[in-house]
Amino acid sequence: MGERKESDSRKLLRRLRDVLGMPDHGQDRLDRITHIIADSMGTEVCSIYLFRDPETLELCATEGLKKEAVHKTRMKLGEGLVGRVARLGQPVNTANAPAEKGFRFMPETGEEIYSSFLGVPIQRVGERLGVLVLQSKDARIYTEDDIDAIEVVAMVLAEMAELGAFGGDNGLALHRQPIMFRGTCGQEGAAEGHVWLHEPRVVVTNPVADDPLTEIDRIREAVGELRVSVDDLLAAESLDKEQKAVLEAYRMFAHSRGWLRRMEEDIQRGLSAEAAVEKEQSTARNRLEQVEDAYLRERLHDLDDLSNRLLRILTGQGRDTGAAMPEDPVLVARNIGPAELLDYGRRLKGVVLEEGSVGSHAAVVARALAIPMVIHAKGIITDALNGNAILVDGDQGIVHLRPEETISRSFRDKIAMQAEAQKRYASLRDLPALTTDGARVELLMNAGLMADLPSLVGSGAEGVGLFRTELQFLIRNKMPQRSELATLYARVMDAAKGRPVAFRTLDIGSDKVLPYMKPNDEPNPAMGWRAIRVGLDKPGVLRMQLQALLRASGGRDLHVMFPFISEFGEFKAARSHVLREIHREKSLGHTVPKDLKIGAMLETPSLAFAPDEFFRLADFISIGGNDLKQFFFAADRENERVRKRYDVLNVSFLELIDHIVRRCAPFGTKLSYCGEDAGRPIEALAFAAMGLRVLSMRPASIGPVKALLRVADLGAARAAMDAARERGEENVRGALMDYLAGLKL
Ligand code: PEP
Ligand code: MG
Repeated sequence: MGERKESDSRKLLRRLRDVLGMPDHGQDRLDRITHIIADSMGTEVCSIYLFRDPETLELCATEGLKKEAVHKTRMKLGEGLVGRVARLGQPVNTANAPAEKGFRFMPETGEEIYSSFLGVPIQRVGERLGVLVLQSKDARIYTEDDIDAIEVVAMVLAEMAELGAFGGDNGLALHRQPIMFRGTCGQEGAAEGHVWLHEPRVVVTNPVADDPLTEIDRIREAVGELRVSVDDLLAAESLDKEQKAVLEAYRMFAHSRGWLRRMEEDIQRGLSAEAAVEKEQSTARNRLEQVEDAYLRERLHDLDDLSNRLLRILTGQGRDTGAAMPEDPVLVARNIGPAELLDYGRRLKGVVLEEGSVGSHAAVVARALAIPMVIHAKGIITDALNGNAILVDGDQGIVHLRPEETISRSFRDKIAMQAEAQKRYASLRDLPALTTDGARVELLMNAGLMADLPSLVGSGAEGVGLFRTELQFLIRNKMPQRSELATLYARVMDAAKGRPVAFRTLDIGSDKVLPYMKPNDEPNPAMGWRAIRVGLDKPGVLRMQLQALLRASGGRDLHVMFPFISEFGEFKAARSHVLREIHREKSLGHTVPKDLKIGAMLETPSLAFAPDEFFRLADFISIGGNDLKQFFFAADRENERVRKRYDVLNVSFLELIDHIVRRCAPFGTKLSYCGEDAGRPIEALAFAAMGLRVLSMRPASIGPVKALLRVADLGAARAAMDAARERGEENVRGALMDYLAGLKL
């Protein structure tokens, strides 16, 4: 770019900035801006189209087209050349617009006399705001320099829009319109509150700068600081391979000459250092939307993170913007780690993530805290502002940002109904789950975090049927020590006040990867080196954990169970580790548990067919239905497409349950079910009718399950299920629903 052009560009930006300083209305500003741009770029037409809603663009100001068309001409995203620019997020440059594929003639604008067309998106870090268009009669093709210059102008317009320069009277209502996001359920429940951004966006108040040399100094200095900080991070010990790889990628970007050069060029054209960073960030976000390749997407995310860091260095704006957290915060984030989420704790009314997964640790924590959570809410971090009203419907996986009053009202009704039901459940808290035909079902809760413990009293659980010990390992960044674990387990037992707690030994591998352990690149981790397989192959951690449990019990009763036992031999081997540790504790003079029960989780179909000896030796067996279902139906529990495809009320699965019940019976082996399905009332009824007398579930499910069991007759439910089977039905849900419909509730 020549010297002359650079100064032209700077002059143009300065004129635009001056418009910002005038006390005009939004529309007057837009009109002035189109005039200035057309004048400066030497074109007959300059028009600004802005999004009216996420699907519709509206002509909001023009120099050169007919004024009557302003606020009248509209097009859908993807429609015509303007719509194409908006959809692609990329410039369209043509000398003969009417001949272009997709050209749409808008007679009211009078544009038929203009041949050349250059449209560039007006966007700011992934947020599409509109399209800036230049047109002229002569069939000219705009040069690369023209495009670069006009992109810089569009960037400034985007920043001005963000600052509210165009007001709400021109159709542009940034961060003001109600928007609905359709995501995936992370944790059920409904919540109303106000947005709290985990990473508040950086506010750039000065998109245009007068002195490029100063700005170039600033950006160089900031990039220098960024490089040092990444190098420092890399020098830290205790990085695993994966963290190192991410930081290496950060370093590569931070040292990339192209990145810095492009930002410096934009500064030469008149942008401030901050706006230049944002422009690069916008480009990266755009590409992010287009690339499918997972690796490339990750790298673009890295670049995005790095841009944020750079902006924070330049603006001095940290994560803490000084804004006060609302009374009813709903956390909005791209993603969040389990430890960070725990830090927020129960203060949060809801959580909305752009990414995340159902099995992620953050989802596990949200579940433990019973905070409604929606994941995969694409685009929410760009749209949400701190303090915006927000509704989270965890059941449907839907989020309403800045909702209309009618939506809020019906949502409040839903919350009130849920609260009403909770009250009803609370009144049953101290009553047993006794069916009308006199069967007593023990309802236990699943837990794994200290945050779960208060629920032991509140939910009416008769104990903890599954304590997932790995969560304590997952939320730390280094391996916990034996003494720490012993203290923790003792606190759990204290909180249980004599109620039984089944501690499951570490179940890592599969989706649960410890941040401080070398990840194994396995083609199919759910069926890989996980849980007891790791424990038996590398018994150091298992033994340490068993010692911690024995010490924590301090002479109380202790229930230990092993995850993912696939064959009898594994159970025997795991059990002998416990016996050895008991022996060791005794020889050290420590007290050992008064009563020790050693159990296994039945999570693979194979164990249902183990020798009788297994059922005799196991003190108790807990069906890990989440895994058992995934292996029985060969349907990945983490895969959204197949996760819900099969049902435990399918007669094949029930046949397996029946088989397990019959295998346990002769030996009096206590059998429970602790997968998610135990917490669903109809499924729970079916399991009870099959003969299961212990169900372990999330604390929030105990009330609904108990309420149903107390009005049900297991004999009648079983008869309805059997009749359905005899009729050749593949699933007994319908039969159970019919049975329930006939109950006078
Ligand atoms: C299960 O598999 O059903 C289970 C309870 O264990 P997790 O969900 O922790 O794998
Ligand atoms: Mg499992």
